[in-house]
Amino acid sequence: MKLKFLGTSHGVPAADRYCSSLMVETGGKTFIIDAGAPLIDLLLRNQKKPSDVSAIFTTHAHGDHVDGLVSFCDLASWYYKDVSVDIFVTEHALTGAIFNFLSVIHSPPDTSRLRFTRATAGVVYDTPELKVTYLPTKHLPTRPAYSILLEAEGKRVLITGDMSNHLERKDFPSIVAEEHLDLVISEMAHFGIDHLTPYLETCIADRMIITHVFPLHKFAEIEALAGKYPFPIDIAHDGDEIEL
Ligand SMILES: [Zn+2]
Ligand SMILES: [Zn+2]
Repeated sequence: MKLKFLGTSHGVPAADRYCSSLMVETGGKTFIIDAGAPLIDLLLRNQKKPSDVSAIFTTHAHGDHVDGLVSFCDLASWYYKDVSVDIFVTEHALTGAIFNFLSVIHSPPDTSRLRFTRATAGVVYDTPELKVTYLPTKHLPTRPAYSILLEAEGKRVLITGDMSNHLERKDFPSIVAEEHLDLVISEMAHFGIDHLTPYLETCIADRMIITHVFPLHKFAEIEALAGKYPFPIDIAHDGDEIEL
């Protein structure tokens, strides 16, 4: 399983960071986790055709995780007619908003090729190449948000998605302390190192990578964690690749 960070910024892009998007290649197929803009541009710059993408999974319907879906769906509708993709969103309203927008600027998407599914807690995708499980987080008080567990090639990767401010209500996925994971990719825009420390102490993963970092002083704080835990903790940068 190969992972490539297309975008690692927090809610706002920066000169050297796009918003959240992760490309996963496994079993000869390509998947996208979160669709921050400019998803389709980044695919092309990474020598991928839009039609290479088998499925897109989004953790929640905040712009930094779904804005890239709009132009992806637009171009897949009228130009890249070989695209055939499963798109997992967390709210029906987002599907409706994309349909409305595309209807205004061109025409509504062909739902036989762009297949929207509203993801809910549990296994949402189970193919020989990849199994995807959605685990609820408390990031949004009244709307759904999820962590995503990927399982492929005997490896298990947890992507936390966004979580609650200060990890209130114990909002870090309990699976990190209960089950072996090859990699945990955690956000760090909504809480500090102090809030994360109790979870680092019980984490049994082989490796952790921190993304979605804000404010920027946290970079130095994360680097200072080196050697404190039995597993390495690294910071994700746009373009970083991980092979598991
Ligand atoms: Zn976010
Ligand atoms: Zn968010």
